[in-house]
Amino acid sequence: MKECLGNEGTHMARREDIDVYLHTLLDVGRFKDYGPNGLQVQGQGDVQLIVSGVTASLALIEEAARLKAQAVLVHHGLFWRGHDGRLVGWLAERVRCLMHHQINLFAYHLPLDAHAELGNNAQLGKRLGLPSGTTFGDQALGHLATIENLTLQELAQRVQTTLQRAPTVVPGDGRVLRRIAWCTGGAQGYFEAAIQAGADAYITGEISEPQAHLARETGVAYLACGHHATERFGAPAVAAHVAAHFGLQHHFVEIDNPA
Ligand SMILES: [Zn+2]
Repeated sequence: MKECLGNEGTHMARREDIDVYLHTLLDVGRFKDYGPNGLQVQGQGDVQLIVSGVTASLALIEEAARLKAQAVLVHHGLFWRGHDGRLVGWLAERVRCLMHHQINLFAYHLPLDAHAELGNNAQLGKRLGLPSGTTFGDQALGHLATIENLTLQELAQRVQTTLQRAPTVVPGDGRVLRRIAWCTGGAQGYFEAAIQAGADAYITGEISEPQAHLARETGVAYLACGHHATERFGAPAVAAHVAAHFGLQHHFVEIDNPA
């Protein structure tokens, strides 16, 4: 576990003002999502330090408490479709820690993937040196960019250097890559839409069994680069932006995840 020092500020902001600002910034109303976006657990009214992270795990919440943060901002919050609403077991422990320390939990899922500058997709594309290009697929979450000719080996190497993690690569038909599609996290289900959009290679976090066959049969290369690894950049970018706007402090806390 490692923490990175972000923007420094000495001001306070009201929780409600942060909530409203984030709602507008991330255009929350535009998305159909798997869980509630915005304030998921209410803590104290004034915020001076925001901790950002990928997932509202107990390790992240405990670190936020140790740092005396008043707010945590994550991509993966606590409440998902299909959850039966009971606060028991591991979920009780996470909520208990937040409530005990009066930490506000802000969580943004698809809105945080999609933001055109600060989102996971935009931030990953920027780090991989891919132009912003166009969008494709359900709720326009996928990105597609035209590049100068690149081999699959060069692209895989670029991913490995950027994310410090070797991707799982299913080669396509060996073509020179000119159109790269990507969508961070568990977006294996976007592969067919990427193929239809004309991609030569598709970058995402995870792979499931069917995608290997699709890559071989369509000739479009597939790179699974890590769910966590591809979604590490959006939450700190958004939190740093909000901290700068209100003059607050921000720390990004990295909780390593092999997935
Ligand atoms: Zn995710």
